[in-house]
Amino acid sequence: MKITPATLRRLLLSTTIAALGASWFAPADAAAVSPVIQINEATSKADITTQQLRGNISVLMGAGGNIVALQGAKGKFLVDAGISVSKAKLQAALAQVGKGPVKYVANTHWHWDHTDGNTWLGESGATIIAHPNTLKHISETTRVDDWNYTFKPLPKAGLPTILVKDGKTMQFGGELITLKNLGNGHTDGDLWIRFEKADVLVLGDTFWNGVYPFIDNASHGGINEAIKWANHAIEQSSDHTIIVPGHGPVGNRAQLIEFRDMLVTVRDKVKGLKDKGLTVEQAVAAKPTSQFDAKYGNFVINPDFFTRLVYAGL
Ligand SMILES: [Zn+2]
Repeated sequence: MKITPATLRRLLLSTTIAALGASWFAPADAAAVSPVIQINEATSKADITTQQLRGNISVLMGAGGNIVALQGAKGKFLVDAGISVSKAKLQAALAQVGKGPVKYVANTHWHWDHTDGNTWLGESGATIIAHPNTLKHISETTRVDDWNYTFKPLPKAGLPTILVKDGKTMQFGGELITLKNLGNGHTDGDLWIRFEKADVLVLGDTFWNGVYPFIDNASHGGINEAIKWANHAIEQSSDHTIIVPGHGPVGNRAQLIEFRDMLVTVRDKVKGLKDKGLTVEQAVAAKPTSQFDAKYGNFVINPDFFTRLVYAGL
């Protein structure tokens, strides 16, 4: 890998977040600072890096989950909104991408690192698009014990007004955009967003490129559902397709296949242990992810926690 300054900054941010991983998702300790607060603090110090993909499409990294921007003649179509602590840096990065306001923001799912910026973008005039269950989650107070954090409802300006339950197509900036839900995946309200002409597929957190994913069982996501989404994306893409994950570097179909194969292998191993009657602690001790840990285990979801997520979803 060629280490550019942008890559280096990204690696440093990843390291910062990985360093937080020790406490991340540990059983909630009332005295511990929530990882949400720690991530927000790390993100507030992070630079935004912009990578041009194809056509008028770019990805912006460093504001939470990956953000994709399509630049049209009169403004922008964004996928995801990042964390609002990045507002000033994100505004500057978006101005570098091209002229005009953000017209639309499509949320891939409800998690705060993808939707927290909805409010300032909505107040600036953007129309928010999301699945009805995303609207439900960000409209209510949500306690996440694993994160020792209670999310407050977003103000009205941050709530979606265009709801996509199964699918929708839109024309914007000369592009044909397809939004699609395949049922439960990472949560119960995921959307993938595909830029058909440029052949860019944005998968949100149904794809974490090269790192173990979080799977939100409490929001009706699950390991089998995550595999279903990955399989569908593999079927619907080619070697030409640029595949943007929710976290990790921009990817391709080969990397998505590798991710899917990892999910299937870990699922089968954990299922075998669970079927034998092992408790979750015994399953974690059996280290069913070990063959993948050197590659996938160095980000926010460590091997033990990933095993717990898979076990809980079976
Ligand atoms: Zn997520």
